[in-house]
Formats: sequence, structure tokens, C-alpha cells
Amino acid sequence: MKKVFIDHDRCKGCLLCARYCPKKILLATDMVNQDGYKVVACVDDDACIGCLSCANICPSACFEIFREQPVLAGG
Ligand code: SF4
Ligand code: SF4
Repeated sequence: MKKVFIDHDRCKGCLLCARYCPKKILLATDMVNQDGYKVVACVDDDACIGCLSCANICPSACFEIFREQPVLAGG
């Protein structure tokens, strides 16, 4: 399941998220959004630990982070 969603239309290309991601999975790309900013992408969704550092530091509120739900066993 995908965990890291980035709203590229809101991205300003500041790379604060990339700097603060402990897993270093947010990288600059050559993709340019409608405002002319180069946007970031998550290059390894499985490596995301759901720490929310990116969401907390992003000045444009670009991130939605989903954590996988634990599976409950038995009944
Ligand atoms: S939630 Fe944490 S590990 Fe996942 S992309 Fe954001 S900063 Fe990186
Ligand atoms: S912190 Fe937000 S605005 Fe800055 S590069 Fe990352 S996603 Fe884009």
C-alpha cells in the first residue's frame, strides 16, 4: 500500500522535506509543476517509517502519510 502522497501542485521545491526525512527517500526531480517549481518525489515508499517529519516541516502542506494498520489475529 502506498504510504507517501505528495501534492505536487502545492510544492515550492524548497527541499526542506528531503533534508529532514530520516530515511532520505525524498529527492528532487526534474518534474516542474504549474507554478514552475521542481517538485520532490518519494523514491522508496516501502522504506517510509511514517514519522511525519516531512509533513511537519513542509511549509505548503503537501504531504499525506499513511501508516499500515496492524493486523489483529484471532478473535
Ligand atoms: S514520513 Fe518520515 S520517513 Fe516517511 S517520507 Fe516523511 S520524513 Fe521520510
Ligand atoms: S517541503 Fe513541501 S514545498 Fe518544500 S520541497 Fe518538500 S514537498 Fe515541496
